Amino acid sequence: MIASVLPTYNRAPMSFVKGEGTWLIEADGRRFLDLGAGIAVNALGHAHPALVKALTDQAQALWHTSNLYHIPQQEALADRLVAETFADTVFFCNSGTEACELAVKMARKHFYDKDQPERVEIITFSGSFHGRSSAGIAAAGSEKMTKGFGPLLPGFVHLDLGDSEALKAAISDKTAAIMVEPVQGEGGIRAIPDAELQEMRRLCDEHGLLLILDEVQCGVGRTGRLFAHEWAGVTPDIMMVAKGIGGGFPLGAVLATEKAAAAMTAGSHGSTYGGNPLGCAVGSAVLDIVAEEGFLAEVNRKASLMRQRLEGLVAEHPTVFEEVRGVGLMLGLKCKVTNADVVAAGYDAALITVPAADNVIRLLPPLTISDDEISEALHRLDAVARSLTPA
Ligand SMILES: *Cc1c(COP(=O)(O)O)cnc(C)c1O
Repeated sequence: MIASVLPTYNRAPMSFVKGEGTWLIEADGRRFLDLGAGIAVNALGHAHPALVKALTDQAQALWHTSNLYHIPQQEALADRLVAETFADTVFFCNSGTEACELAVKMARKHFYDKDQPERVEIITFSGSFHGRSSAGIAAAGSEKMTKGFGPLLPGFVHLDLGDSEALKAAISDKTAAIMVEPVQGEGGIRAIPDAELQEMRRLCDEHGLLLILDEVQCGVGRTGRLFAHEWAGVTPDIMMVAKGIGGGFPLGAVLATEKAAAAMTAGSHGSTYGGNPLGCAVGSAVLDIVAEEGFLAEVNRKASLMRQRLEGLVAEHPTVFEEVRGVGLMLGLKCKVTNADVVAAGYDAALITVPAADNVIRLLPPLTISDDEISEALHRLDAVARSLTPA
């Protein structure tokens, strides 16, 4: 008999009743050190007092009104995002894949309104992940996600990363946009080299295309900049954001330049819950902290400490780990043993990590992790590696 919850997930045998900062606690009191942060969602850890206050204050005042009316919390968060980024305008939704939906629609409508309705194709890359909606799986294109769900939304051209000749050859008078994650998350913590991202920007400018960046996982301080593309000194035309922006409350957003977004007029897109007062109150509280003077400097300091310690771990355990990857606190360990075994051994050591493609485990701790917690994490990872070292 099918489970009452549709069995689409392979779940680990734990569940938690409470969260405190970098810790998740089971009903029997067992405390797990959380280097997963709900897959890069709990950017400020669990039960951060400022987020709890923002949510409960708003919950006591007003939960939901719909986008039939002005929503001041939404306008405040949009103003903040516009002030802090390349963007001129923001649309709020509830998840990363919803952000992908709008990014695709916005790119197509942009060219339709410019009398270039033939420009519908979006170039995407192997190893990418853009969520599980019909557009999201078609954009990523992997068989694992798309098999059995056809016919897929047409108009995506899939290339390998790092092949600039193939990219140039793929651009035609049908191309609308290039869509890419500056640091692939699900794909195995693969950071696109700055020069490659700069080249994508240059090609978009040369051919009049839109650059769509998916910063759902790598955005909101995760890499040590507010958004990962800042490291490369390029800006997108459209950017997808979710995960960390809500700090654990479901919130997504599409940020865009005025030029890219101009075709999205009243009635062209919408969402019942998108930008609701609860989500936007929490989003503003997250941004208040992440954009605060000194916060990202501290993320970068802790990131280099953690990276240095992880390099040491890999050197100590060359039969278990191959290399450290990533940027900021979006880190990965490429494994020589099966990554699922490393994650499972982590659970035995009360340590949470997240598997990714390419035999990688992801380390995505709350950005608020302390130096002591980094030491404790390395201690537990060392024990995990010892337990998996071939005799
Ligand atoms: C998680 C993720 C998504 C999808 O987000 P959901 O909120 O699960 O729909 C899209 N893109 C990237 C890069 C992600 O990591």
